[in-house]
Amino acid sequence: MIIPFKKEGLYASSLRVNSEEKLVIAVMGQDILLHASQDSVPRLAIAAEDADILKFFCVNRVHLGQWWGSDCEVWELMPEASGCDGFVAVELRTLLAQSADAEFSLASRAMQLVDWHKKHQFCGQCGASNRVSETEHALVCEPCAIRQYPRISPCVIVAVVSGDRCLFARHPNWPENRYSTLAGFIEAGESAEQALHREVFEEVGIEIQNIRYVGSQAWPYPGQLMLGYIAEAKSENIKIDGVEIAEARWFKYDQLPSLVAPTTIMAGRLIQQFVDESKAVYG
Ligand SMILES: [Zn+2]
Repeated sequence: MIIPFKKEGLYASSLRVNSEEKLVIAVMGQDILLHASQDSVPRLAIAAEDADILKFFCVNRVHLGQWWGSDCEVWELMPEASGCDGFVAVELRTLLAQSADAEFSLASRAMQLVDWHKKHQFCGQCGASNRVSETEHALVCEPCAIRQYPRISPCVIVAVVSGDRCLFARHPNWPENRYSTLAGFIEAGESAEQALHREVFEEVGIEIQNIRYVGSQAWPYPGQLMLGYIAEAKSENIKIDGVEIAEARWFKYDQLPSLVAPTTIMAGRLIQQFVDESKAVYG
């Protein structure tokens, strides 16, 4: 028996609950189409009847799970869909920067599933076409009996702190005053902690200690899972690699760079926590 999900926001189930209300997330390239009804703000989850007009431009439909208990599909659309009345295209990055946690997960998942389907149409071993599993979120090659699942790539992101200061780095292609925390992919065979020590040492030449886990967030570029941490630096002597990082500096909690990430994304959340904790001690 399928029990309908009653909790808040996204439930990434592979099974449908056959809810009365059906919802659609409309993905078009790197954009998401929001439904701009006249009486409210544009909506990410579009009622199926409102999405009907988009069917003509739909090239793939994937069941995504439930959104507030209602079955939800993501539709991959041709660029021509942008001309449909009542819809507004928003770039995914812009949407994520402005979204609350629940909407953030929903948009991320929709984009990731579309991308995964597009890139895993054929078996990596024999080259035969994969088919969509009816029982779980998987693509199946029958001859090889191989099941492919959406690929999730764990990354670590860390605010390295020293007393009332936090280490910020600037990437070579970023503007002069834009800085962020350090981040990198976890390598095969590594633990998250090992990845943290390695990434920080490789990028800025600093050893860390007292690592604290803060939280995680899906980040769809593509399929990353950001694991967020705060760690203490053993020393303040920066040695940058000059390749991944153009510049790294210590900033006091009340004199941060002018351009830092919004708190809707993990980097911003770590920075905010550092500021709050510093205020409590030094403020
Ligand atoms: Zn195969």
